[in-house]
Amino acid sequence: MRKILFPGSFDPFTIGHAALVRRALNLFDEVIIAVGVNEQKSAFIAPKDRVEAIRSVYEGDARVKVISYSGLTADLAQQFGVCAILRGVRQVKDYESELTLADVNRRLTGIDTVILTAEPEYAAISSSMVRELAHFGKNISAFLP
Ligand code: ADP
Repeated sequence: MRKILFPGSFDPFTIGHAALVRRALNLFDEVIIAVGVNEQKSAFIAPKDRVEAIRSVYEGDARVKVISYSGLTADLAQQFGVCAILRGVRQVKDYESELTLADVNRRLTGIDTVILTAEPEYAAISSSMVRELAHFGKNISAFLP
């Protein structure tokens, strides 16, 4: 059973994130979506509600698990015995930080990161953009799965 860990803030989980999960399921048997909880950062959606919302998206799909965590992604990846970590890039700017994260996680655990490039129709979608639109009272439902 080949499992991949998809860590992120998912504040909120967008159709861009969902597209990555869909593509990862073509490559792996199970995707574990891990909602990172940062006590220092004030959240748009409370972590517990984020987990619940994502679980409702994948209700009935046994190949997707949703959890929350507050420690190191590397430790979590080892704990779950995954063979890879999933991340996405939308533009060159993303690639720089993802490269560093992937390198650190590989050094700590030997676990590689699979970086999927965004499909063009999702490349402009980010949680921060959705939060900004919500802040100004716009309907964000088109960006949420
Ligand atoms: P983090 O705060 O850990 O970056 P995010 O929830 O913002 O968490 O993103 C999780 C992962 O999903 C990151 O690797 C990010 O680059 C990727 N991602 C976010 N939106 C998209 C998208 N529209 N297309 C592809 N990858 C995306």
